[in-house]
Amino acid sequence: MAPAPVSASQSVLVPTYARAPVAFERGEGPWAITADGTRYLDFGAGIAVNALGHAHPHLVKTLTEQAGKIWHTSNLYGAPDGERLARRLCEATFAERVFFTNSGAEANECAIKMARKYHAAKGHPERFRIVTFEGAFHGRTLATIAAGGQQKYIDGFGPKVDGFDQVPFDDEKALRAAITPETAALMIEPIQGEGGLRSVPGRFLKLLRQICDENGLLLIFDEIQTGVGRTGKFFAHEHYGVTPDIMSIAKGIGGGFPMGACLATEEAASGMTLGTHGTTFGGNPLAMAVGNAVLDVVLAPGFIENVGRIALRLKQSLAELKDRHPGVIEEIRGEGLMLGLKLHTPNTDFVNEARAQGLLVVGAGDNVVRLLPPLIVTEADVAEAVSRLDKTAGAIEASLKRPAAE
Ligand SMILES: *Cc1c(COP(=O)(O)O)cnc(C)c1O
Repeated sequence: MAPAPVSASQSVLVPTYARAPVAFERGEGPWAITADGTRYLDFGAGIAVNALGHAHPHLVKTLTEQAGKIWHTSNLYGAPDGERLARRLCEATFAERVFFTNSGAEANECAIKMARKYHAAKGHPERFRIVTFEGAFHGRTLATIAAGGQQKYIDGFGPKVDGFDQVPFDDEKALRAAITPETAALMIEPIQGEGGLRSVPGRFLKLLRQICDENGLLLIFDEIQTGVGRTGKFFAHEHYGVTPDIMSIAKGIGGGFPMGACLATEEAASGMTLGTHGTTFGGNPLAMAVGNAVLDVVLAPGFIENVGRIALRLKQSLAELKDRHPGVIEEIRGEGLMLGLKLHTPNTDFVNEARAQGLLVVGAGDNVVRLLPPLIVTEADVAEAVSRLDKTAGAIEASLKRPAAE
């Protein structure tokens, strides 16, 4: 049997996380299971990572087969599975070039470097600044905390990396004012994930494209959380008919294996010539095998359409839930299977109470609780989750009433 979770006071892990007092030994589809056999319905999916749930047979088979062949070769040699995955990503998107990474933040680092290098290679090294948007989250490296602009992530880590100008969300005037002869690109999540499931209006995304075209800027979409079928399209920007020049992806593409990628048009990637960027692990054969296996499932006919159908059912049920619990739930947000409950009551209490009800959900900024189920959930799973959310909201209401009654 697996050891019990280690208490925070005994842990030697750097204590940057407030870990819930529960640990999982295995999983089955949308269920995460502890060593003592307690089953939790996992509507967090490891923060939108386990796109196909836990222990998906096709992913398990692919990874174990690859593990018996070769794990790692470095980027000094040919990468047939990487070539294949890159080609499949290009065929299914706007992209013509792919650089593989191990994480989302590294995919964004690549996007940022690519945008700067594009202008430098065209004789404009002074064009290195990138405009980002309030409430953004782009990762935890030094450059991506500067891009995200959240003071709590920046404080204490020395001088903020230069070259990021942040403007309010959906504010055309502020955006136009922030663009200078030094601007290289605009960078945005089509739906803010960590920031609280705020959807960027389609007309604003169209405006970004137009402003980029007018000013010779590159448009970068961070689809690390919104991508790979999560919103009911392969990538969220497809809902709006706007295409970026560069796009970062991660989370769902590995189905739980750590990987990411920076996708771009040939033109946007044109500065990234021999020797300008690199990675030891990125594009590793284990990751490439799993990435291809994820696409086998996600790009199979009807899969993403089914995500949209299930998502609609979930969203309708959440709207009913909000009507039943108006003192707890203020608003339903998001798209596809990336939905948020904006709450009147503290979201951390809700996350903890849901866990007590056997349901895993994830907090986000702006007092939102995120529902990010694996894309393989059925209507029965959705009904079960909604029933547990109902009990959760009911328990929170009861706790609100208690002090007055006593
Ligand atoms: C998770 C996330 C990141 C960072 O990805 P890591 O793999 O944690 O580095 C960046 N941008 C968005 C939108 C994310 O959701």
